[in-house]
Amino acid sequence: MILNSTASRLVPVTLAAPRPSRGQLLVKVTACGVCRTDLHVVDGDLPQARLPIIPGHEIVGVVAEVGAGAESFCLADRVGIPWLGFTCGTCRFCLAGRENLCDNAQFTGCTIHGGYAEYALADSRYCFRLPTDYSDLELAPWLCAGLIGYRALRMAVDAERLGIYGFGAAAHILTQVCRYEQRHVYAFTRPEDTQAQAFARKLGAVWAGSSDDAPPCELDAAIVFAPVGALVPKALQHVAKGATVVCAGIHMSDIPQFPYSILWGERRVCSVANLTRRDGLEFIEVAQRAEVHTTPVPFALSAANEALTALREGRITGAAVLAIG
Ligand SMILES: [Zn+2]
Ligand SMILES: [Zn+2]
Repeated sequence: MILNSTASRLVPVTLAAPRPSRGQLLVKVTACGVCRTDLHVVDGDLPQARLPIIPGHEIVGVVAEVGAGAESFCLADRVGIPWLGFTCGTCRFCLAGRENLCDNAQFTGCTIHGGYAEYALADSRYCFRLPTDYSDLELAPWLCAGLIGYRALRMAVDAERLGIYGFGAAAHILTQVCRYEQRHVYAFTRPEDTQAQAFARKLGAVWAGSSDDAPPCELDAAIVFAPVGALVPKALQHVAKGATVVCAGIHMSDIPQFPYSILWGERRVCSVANLTRRDGLEFIEVAQRAEVHTTPVPFALSAANEALTALREGRITGAAVLAIG
């Protein structure tokens, strides 16, 4: 499924089967998660997206062909392909171990073709090995919702009482990691979304309510997954002195003006951008220990537009995933 223009709609195309270049794997895609970032690509919110593009950056599949120099993987290995598709290794961010901020990075499903397809090419150095005791559909959301959610959680450092704004794919994974780490999750959803609030409680949130509500106690940190800038000052009003409010999406509506008093007390607002390969390895390890189980909501590849619409309208409880082949 390819995006040709900013028409906000993917169209099916048939392309010749690609061959892996040096260092690449050709992967037969079995599952691809549907992430909010895909909506931003389709909606034209991301100027860096290179059209025409096949979206999708939570790819699970099996190696169908190994390019020269990519022999760290074998034919038929199960692999995960994440958002980070390439880094230069030579810019000042790469040299400082901050490859998530690389000046010359390439991103799967945004600047290089992704996984809303039967086959995908990937630089083997950015692919992950995946645990065997989970299904492909269950694992797909790990590759962005999990990895980038985990990076956001690390920015919240040792917060014991964590607010999460927007209870989608990332939050449903992170709540399980938090439960394992004995943190308390306070889940904020759209005001009328009692279904998401019940889902949050089921996964271990100690409190769930509307984003208009005040939590029952002061929070040590908050992560904002919803792409709604107005939630940033709301979160700031509920966090303690010294706390961080982490904005974890790639795009957000403007943050409204707010009084300095709600930032005072060494409160911080920051963003999370992309992931490092190290984040991925750490998350895959932690997720297994925490026995994270995602709730995939499957769609056929031909129904990719419907999956995006359902995500946009907040109709997904868990994580939308394209089941392919
Ligand atoms: Zn770089
Ligand atoms: Zn994503």
